[in-house]
Amino acid sequence: MERSITMNEEQRKEQAQIKQEPSVDRQTSQDKPLSEKTTEDFAHYFQTTYEPPDIRKARKRGRDEIEVHYDFDIPKEMQSIGEGKKFLIRTYGCQMNEHDTEVMAGILTEMGYESTSDTNDADIILLNTCAIRENAENKVFGEIGHLKPLKVENPDLIIGVCGCMSQRETVVNRIMKKHPQVDLIFGTHNIHRIPHLIQEAMFSKAQVVEVWSKEGDIIENLPKVRHGKIKAWVNIMYGCDKFCTYCIVPMTRGKERSRRPEDIIQEVRHLAAQGYQEITLLGQNVNAYGKDFVDMDYRFGDLMNDMHKIDIPRVRFTTSHPRDFDDHLIEVLAQGGNLLDHIHLPVQSGSSYVLRKMNRKYTREEYLELVRKIKEAMPNATLTTDIIVGFPNETDEQFEETMTLMEEVGFEAAYTFIYSPREGTPAAAKTDEISMEVKKERLYRLNELVNKQSKESMKNYEGHVVKVLVEGESKKDDQVLAGYTERNKVVNFVGPKSIIGQIVDVKITEAKTWSLNGELVEKTVGVNR
Ligand code: SAM
Ligand code: SF4
Repeated sequence: MERSITMNEEQRKEQAQIKQEPSVDRQTSQDKPLSEKTTEDFAHYFQTTYEPPDIRKARKRGRDEIEVHYDFDIPKEMQSIGEGKKFLIRTYGCQMNEHDTEVMAGILTEMGYESTSDTNDADIILLNTCAIRENAENKVFGEIGHLKPLKVENPDLIIGVCGCMSQRETVVNRIMKKHPQVDLIFGTHNIHRIPHLIQEAMFSKAQVVEVWSKEGDIIENLPKVRHGKIKAWVNIMYGCDKFCTYCIVPMTRGKERSRRPEDIIQEVRHLAAQGYQEITLLGQNVNAYGKDFVDMDYRFGDLMNDMHKIDIPRVRFTTSHPRDFDDHLIEVLAQGGNLLDHIHLPVQSGSSYVLRKMNRKYTREEYLELVRKIKEAMPNATLTTDIIVGFPNETDEQFEETMTLMEEVGFEAAYTFIYSPREGTPAAAKTDEISMEVKKERLYRLNELVNKQSKESMKNYEGHVVKVLVEGESKKDDQVLAGYTERNKVVNFVGPKSIIGQIVDVKITEAKTWSLNGELVEKTVGVNR
């Protein structure tokens, strides 16, 4: 999914000062034309920090080297550098990227820039990229091409590429060699360096590249321009140490680093005080939260317990990994209240053999046992998942195990993907006997099943009253309001615009495959927050 996020002035007041240490920028030397440069010429950008993905080495990543900084500050000379200018950030990929975009928008806003959604109007265009699958990368290269004429028209335009793709050496080399219209490339650990990088890009004739492959420290209180005033994302940790054999994330996002609980709690309290109704705690593997603390025993269950005590109506989290889903967490979630009955629990495959090849560290049976425990403690819980089809050499029988698991668990929704080889990951080195045609056929069958199960789960709501957090007008019809239930179902209904931002009761009149239609239960208006 791709979305262009732009922010308006009112949304921007959520900042903080904070942080950080200047570090050494690195720039392209212009000693020979880009077209003549080889990979070796670019290697120095990475040499102190970049290492090709290596599971064994990375597993030994140290735990104790992360520092938390609270001193982020935009240097005085850069605080008004953007006055009279506009920025546009195009975001690709997951919620983590969406949230990074909010931070980048926050920094740019503090530098005086305003947002725009029109590329012709922008003085800075940043592509916040995703590397999870090949087609995500292709889209970005397509967009880089589309932006070229703008640069010809307006040579002062700054085009930047950031996010997960920019952590990949091959991608950076390709951009540097073939896309001179890109002025700036920076990595996922370099976001706080934006003011310095933009200054460099403005005053330098060379492409500016700064990619730290060694994960950065945690920088607290970076300014943010949040995408809306009703729901907010809150990072609780960064990186991933799971090393699933198909996945590039541990390489693009670095090792697991947890934010300190007091910083998270303070951020959530602040959001509650501002009137936010829902927060989603973010991490690649949120239930590994706290494993990296060397000075205390405080894990995701403890954090959720503290969230439960905060006066904010809804708390969600994504994504959780089955391996780290412990009994304490289940016990805490079962308390309900603002901890919602929806668990997104990516399974990836229903075959224990494939799971082992994926390095998921659980079997089909262990996953089912976890589901049993969750359902026992939370009988109303909705479960959703992620599934990959066509992992190298996945047999028909192994795929059928995914189909039966899908039914056995009764997932109400699933994000389904055809396996995409990612250079540098162990699975990408495997030869694969399964044709793309077979993989597509499997995906089709799986999606049919997902649709069927979603439709069936929706039917159960007909005639029932559900609590809906009203988010705004429906995109299809501005007379209709739309919002989400506690279990994350979209509900459309007619009601006054004044209830946008409130949690109201809606009686469901019609179930569709992916959404519900309903009628507002009038008495709730103004009663719920
Ligand atoms: N950390 C989460 C987890 O482990 O479930 C998911 C993070 S990843 C951004 C989202 C999903 O992308 C994964 O759950 C997986 O299904 C899918 N994915 C990751 N690498 C993939 C690949 N190489 N090919 C296809 N799908 C992939
Ligand atoms: Fe990728 Fe998620 Fe596995 Fe981490 S846990 S390697 S992010 S799929």
